[in-house]
Amino acid sequence: ANASFLTVFDGQGTTADGHLVPLLANVGGAKDAVKAAAAGAQGVGLLRTEFCFLERETEPSIEEQVQAYRGVFDAFPGKKVVVRTLDAGADKPLPFLTDADEPNPALGVRGYRTDISTPGVLERQLAAIAEAAQGTTAQVWVMAPMISTADEAARFASLCAAAGLKTPGVMVEVPSAAVTAESILGQVEFASLGTNDLTQYTMAADRQLGPLAALNNPWQPAVLQLVRLTVAGSIAERSGKPVGVCGEAAADPALAVVLVGLGVSTLSMTARSLAAVGAVLATVTLKEAQEIATLALHAANPTEARDRARKKLPILAELG
Ligand code: PEP
Ligand code: MG
Repeated sequence: ANASFLTVFDGQGTTADGHLVPLLANVGGAKDAVKAAAAGAQGVGLLRTEFCFLERETEPSIEEQVQAYRGVFDAFPGKKVVVRTLDAGADKPLPFLTDADEPNPALGVRGYRTDISTPGVLERQLAAIAEAAQGTTAQVWVMAPMISTADEAARFASLCAAAGLKTPGVMVEVPSAAVTAESILGQVEFASLGTNDLTQYTMAADRQLGPLAALNNPWQPAVLQLVRLTVAGSIAERSGKPVGVCGEAAADPALAVVLVGLGVSTLSMTARSLAAVGAVLATVTLKEAQEIATLALHAANPTEARDRARKKLPILAELG
């Protein structure tokens, strides 16, 4: 494999014809953020705030949260940092917030929904994010996980406004959110596709079950269709609100090209994938990415979708 061009990546994702696609990092704390900045990330597309809450019996104080978030903001002066509010439940249980006895935790009180059963935690977290944002130059955006309806998006936006946070958004990781993206984007400033959960819920296949891995594949044409619908919702909404991707799909270079071809505006991934995704993206024009996306969308199955895309991306053979 030719690794030389992978070491000089500057994070500025662009297609061969100069269409900019900022490449951002998914991080789980300040240490991660420092590493991601060094790897060339243009910002953070997903700060998983669970790091501050997991393995605790009680809620962290606002002051503890402020310190934890500030460490991340300080690693990205002047850059965008998208903070996801607490995503407890299902694969991320928390003793003070989620009910271990739910029969179907993935379909239960998780993510944004915990604010209904345990009000207050979200408001205190938003207050901490707002306080941490003061005195840093990072551009702090905030998004809620597991949003299913435009009403939930509206309520989240009003909680953000009350905390003084000006750029509220939502994750699109439930099929209903993809289908109603136009009205959801009427309530918030941006959307970020969480392809891990979007795949799980689209295919009705638990993301933690090994035997269902073939269904749980973001190359499934059904998942790609929902990405397309989300972008279409943003276009229909007419204010040009960005739709990014922050699920693992963005870290697969061939799938990243497909996502860009479907119209997503940013890709957020684990920092170690930035260089490969940037290198592959630089070999295609936007029009070629769109053509590759169309081929993948209309494939009969995920294997065919992936093979079709990879065949159009000869650089992948070089990357190994
Ligand atoms: C996702 O669901 O795609 C996502 C980015 O969030 P998580 O993997 O933390 O659920
Ligand atoms: Mg998720």
